[in-house]
Amino acid sequence: MSVIINLERCTGCGQCLDACPFGLLYLLDGRLMVDDGCTLCGACVEVCEYGALSLPATEAGSSEVYRPHGGIWIFAEQRGGRMAPVSLELLGEARRLAARMQVPVAAVLFGHQVQELTAGLIAGGADKVYLVDHPRLADFVEEPYAAALTALARREQPEIILAGATYLGRAFIPRVAALLDTGLTADCTAFDLETETNLLLQTRPAFGGNIMATILTPRSYPQMATVRPRVMKKLALQSDREGTVIPVRLEELEQPFRSRFLETVSEITEAIPLGEAEVIVAGGRGLQDGKNFQLLEELADLLGGAVGATRAAVDAGWISYQHQIGQTGKTVAPRLYFACGISGAAQHLVGMQSSDFIVAINSDPQAPIFQIADIGLVGDMFEIIPALIQQIKASR
Ligand SMILES: Cc1cc2nc3c(=O)[nH]c(=O)nc-3n(C[C@H](O)[C@H](O)[C@H](O)COP(=O)(O)OP(=O)(O)OC[C@H]3O[C@@H](n4cnc5c(N)ncnc54)[C@H](O)[C@@H]3O)c2cc1C
Repeated sequence: MSVIINLERCTGCGQCLDACPFGLLYLLDGRLMVDDGCTLCGACVEVCEYGALSLPATEAGSSEVYRPHGGIWIFAEQRGGRMAPVSLELLGEARRLAARMQVPVAAVLFGHQVQELTAGLIAGGADKVYLVDHPRLADFVEEPYAAALTALARREQPEIILAGATYLGRAFIPRVAALLDTGLTADCTAFDLETETNLLLQTRPAFGGNIMATILTPRSYPQMATVRPRVMKKLALQSDREGTVIPVRLEELEQPFRSRFLETVSEITEAIPLGEAEVIVAGGRGLQDGKNFQLLEELADLLGGAVGATRAAVDAGWISYQHQIGQTGKTVAPRLYFACGISGAAQHLVGMQSSDFIVAINSDPQAPIFQIADIGLVGDMFEIIPALIQQIKASR
């Protein structure tokens, strides 16, 4: 079944071509044609000004709008054969949504000789894994990655695609959304489903983080969103979970691309990467000087943690950007987070409020950081932190 074209009414204006999320409509000698795979989503019907397109009546006799049937997909990001933690976090969230939507969860894995990663994805919550194993996908390059995901989505028609808001996801997912002619909500912090329609409610900070906006993609499919690492919770791995691995061959990868991979250059080395640290000691403008970060480093070293910072501290040139936590920095969720001389601006909170336990040290009892802290210490950090360091040393 596909959309019904009334050729007497169709003027061949081509407006509907752009509306089809899967690019299935085309003009042949001025006549509108539709390829196999129409999902009856109705997007083309809505844009046709001439009433030339309609949906076939359902059994009940109504013209209910159909939705893609490919379930929820997550893009399983790997580099050098190492799975990015965000992939499992996305799977955890996809499973939660899928339970309510009653649809399967699929992971899409790109790379070369990465078959062994499929088991981890199934254990982490995937019902199926689309495995596109190709030398062109061995290293990340936007064009082939975008071409492959677009082709696969056109073929299998997922209802939702979630990907990590990582360097990689940010680089190619917008391109996929554009090729599929659908919307994309970047950097989501929460998802829900609209009660009546089951459409994905995509929440993200807006207007500099001062409000949370919830965005819907009601007329185009797939509904696409990216999520920052460490925002969603992964599930406990279940090694006996069953799932299917579907090897996929894509002709689209055989075409010439304009860019090619040359080499990876590692520039930044962190002793403990912020994203993986279990303890973070973060400092803000209250530190008053860059050299005072030494105090935080000492506490972090004692606790086996890493040092973070607010944008104010980074902008002051006290510490490098790689330490910045927040809306325009990293998102972290350690087990223990020390906020030292940090007021608690919304743009900072969005990057650290999922931490398990938050200790705030601030001389201002009204500082907003205390509203989310598990323990608040009101006082001068230059007295409190040295005392804390001394106590920890003494207790050892
Ligand atoms: C679009 C946009 C994006 C942004 N992105 C980010 C981001 O990613 N990350 C981020 O952090 N910010 C971000 N910001 C900036 C954010 O709005 C705040 O300006 C910033 O977080 C404030 O940093 P702070 O808490 O260090 O400084 P302040 O707000 O100046 O707070 C300093 C605190 O230190 C306390 N203090 C002072 N002396 C002491 C002392 N001796 N002992 C204890 N406490 C003391 C003060 O009481 C005060 O509460 C962004 C802003 C915008 C508009």
